[in-house]
Amino acid sequence: MSASASEPIHPLALRLRGKAVLCVGAGKVAHRRLSALLEAGARITVIAPAAVPEIRALAESGALTWRQRGYEPGDLEGMWLAHTATGDPALDARVSQDAEERRIWCINAADAQASSAWTPAITRTSEGITIAVSAGGDPRRAAGLRNAIALAADTGLLPLRRRRTGPGSVALVGGGPGDPGLITVTGRRLLAAADVVVADRLGPRALLRELDPAVKIIEVGKAPGDHLATQDQINEVLVREARAGNRVVRLKGGDPFVLGRGGEEADYCRAHGVSVEIISGVTSAISVPAAAGIPVTHRGVATGFSMATGHDELCELPARADHTLVLLMGVGRLERNTATLLGRGLAADTPVAIIERGYSPDQRVTIGDLGTIAATATRIGVANPAVIVIGDVVRLSPHAAGILEPSQQPAAAVPHAIDARRVQHRVPQPVG
Ligand code: SAH
Repeated sequence: MSASASEPIHPLALRLRGKAVLCVGAGKVAHRRLSALLEAGARITVIAPAAVPEIRALAESGALTWRQRGYEPGDLEGMWLAHTATGDPALDARVSQDAEERRIWCINAADAQASSAWTPAITRTSEGITIAVSAGGDPRRAAGLRNAIALAADTGLLPLRRRRTGPGSVALVGGGPGDPGLITVTGRRLLAAADVVVADRLGPRALLRELDPAVKIIEVGKAPGDHLATQDQINEVLVREARAGNRVVRLKGGDPFVLGRGGEEADYCRAHGVSVEIISGVTSAISVPAAAGIPVTHRGVATGFSMATGHDELCELPARADHTLVLLMGVGRLERNTATLLGRGLAADTPVAIIERGYSPDQRVTIGDLGTIAATATRIGVANPAVIVIGDVVRLSPHAAGILEPSQQPAAAVPHAIDARRVQHRVPQPVG
């Protein structure tokens, strides 16, 4: 019996729990297939004069029965399914033939074309979906396609949203600095599976447009002075939606634990009996400087960096040009903060960069020095969201060329996360 690749097949899902399955042969191929059959709960008898250690161990543990002898046609008696992988094509053909006569489906590992049945390439998603691919008897092609589908499922590109069952949950997902490519694979997958998304003003907003129309999007974005929702209200929304049985994704800008109040949201959920998981994200503190070609550390320039909110006094932070300072939410108090740093002995010509709206089409990079940057920022109307970088690493940015004294390091050596070709920058002339 042989089949052509174009012959239509009839896919079936078998419930094998407790069903007798014969496996002739006990080599590596047999072992690989046996694992899947065991997982499905089949009652397996292996027939082979010798077995690989893995199959011996399974027999010793009682997971299957191994009869240490050659195959006899009577072995097929009472079987629902047979599998032959003996390494001897003639023997495999005989087992297939005997099974055919007894109307037992038989998987012949030696010859897919001569098999009455075969195992498709399989992937199982965390949503409880099994995807099986058969490519007309070409297992490599099937496996390649299966891998591509598994990747699409993992990265949230497939509509895997399940019907609501069981209790709801909350995932605090770090969305990264705004570029839709800078969310983690796990974050992307959870987003695709969410029933409710509680969204910030910052983060990968473009991904919201790709959500299934049935997904409820709750906007809680806060702009300074324009509070859409208080933190208490956000906490309550998370718990309320999860208790209604929803899978809630709290999509946050950057990383949930970097000035994101993620800890408070997680505590509140747990205190109210709602299970919560935290998915780290790419923080703007590191990635937004990178979008302007600034590495927060660079060999020979800076060996460390400190990050702080610009809301706070900067009295405790290291004040040295070779230790990078990164300030978030620092536009409002830029003048006071630069004065503090100057007062602590940081030189007036210490380089400063302000990157507004990082990763957006209107990202703007302003380069200056500690003595003059506050005046420049006021003059050109620098606004949030912006990341402020203070220290010698700023010289490494291509945006600093012609404005600051170049550093010893050539700017071309700096790897840019997203370089100047993609985003339009207006670099203002330094004042004075
Ligand atoms: N959890 C976030 C930070 C939240 S605080 C993170 O890890 O990135 C909000 C501040 O982050 C903004 O005021 C701004 O300073 C900074 N920020 C976030 N995204 C930004 C972006 N795309 N461009 C510039 N600054 C950004």
